[in-house]
Amino acid sequence: MGIRSTGLRCLLAVAVVLSATAARAGALSAWAISRDGALELRTSPGVRLQAYFEEGAAGRGPRVWVDIPGAPLRTRSLRATGALQEVRIGKPDPYTTRLVLEFQPGTRLDPRQLRLVGTARDRWRMELRGVPARRIAQLGEGDMDASPGAWSGRTAARLPAGGRYGGSDDWSSRGRSTARTPLSTQGLPVVPRGRFRVVIDPGHGGPDPGAVGIGGLRETDVVLDVGLQVARLLQSRGVQVLMTRTSEVDVDLPPRVSLANSSGAHVFVSLHANALSMDRPDVNGVETFYFSGGRSFELARSIQEQIMAISPGTPDRGARPGRFYVIRRTVMPSVLTEMGFVTGEIDAPRLADPEFRRRLAQAVANGILSYLQ
Ligand SMILES: [Zn+2]
Repeated sequence: MGIRSTGLRCLLAVAVVLSATAARAGALSAWAISRDGALELRTSPGVRLQAYFEEGAAGRGPRVWVDIPGAPLRTRSLRATGALQEVRIGKPDPYTTRLVLEFQPGTRLDPRQLRLVGTARDRWRMELRGVPARRIAQLGEGDMDASPGAWSGRTAARLPAGGRYGGSDDWSSRGRSTARTPLSTQGLPVVPRGRFRVVIDPGHGGPDPGAVGIGGLRETDVVLDVGLQVARLLQSRGVQVLMTRTSEVDVDLPPRVSLANSSGAHVFVSLHANALSMDRPDVNGVETFYFSGGRSFELARSIQEQIMAISPGTPDRGARPGRFYVIRRTVMPSVLTEMGFVTGEIDAPRLADPEFRRRLAQAVANGILSYLQ
């Protein structure tokens, strides 16, 4: 009843980049099915994608498709092996690229488990949950659109077939579109250029604002602003930076962790702000959590020290053990820092102040670089 011959259709949860730009040709520049069973897309920065799911009908498997603004240079279809039967690049109308994943009949996919998440302004990932990874063959195609200008003058790095996005070029470009106020790199510790990789994880994002405090101060805004600045500071010291998000998108915790773990990063730093209740403005303070001791503790202590040095008057809640998912599941030294309380009378006005956030970013970058030194 109510299910038409086309099968059940639904719009999947989609992480939407807020700063949508006008559709233009060839926003999809590369795609891949990774070995661990995820669809990875690379697009022009700041576009809106929509993902759909359709249940299998008689003799046909389920399909998932993603609509990307901009027509493809060419349409094509690729046979796959295993659970995935075919991947097609189509053109449902002159302004849209449609990437279709067609699965073998009998493949079970739960649309509630499928989420296309933006991992950066130009990166997208969908874990094909429910399909055993061994039944997924690697597949991929890079440089979908070789037309000049599609990448604002930059040539898209070629995706090796089915490989992950790699190459140091690729890495450093991730946080690039973040120009804001110029930052001072004076006094930042010096580390060997090109030697270290750091993952910066601004907590929450998109529909999840994190904690909301005095004057409507939102955790997501604070941590994204600080995170982007930390990235630029580290990059200025020749550190390769990967961000789990660079805009207001919703990224689940597991993709944040898998991004970090698959990247070979030396350090993972998750940025958050605390909250208690609006009735407790008296509670303030900075704390930095680590899961395992040793190097994570050293990193936590280094960052905590630097933030406290620029936060007089707020309590030092210390470097302390914690069990947050992102620090428990990451394999490199990792910490989660709560840079103050958005509900605190001392911390909130500071966290709301762009100048203080600039200093916070310098403190965090300082803490990371001192640790790497
Ligand atoms: Zn948080």
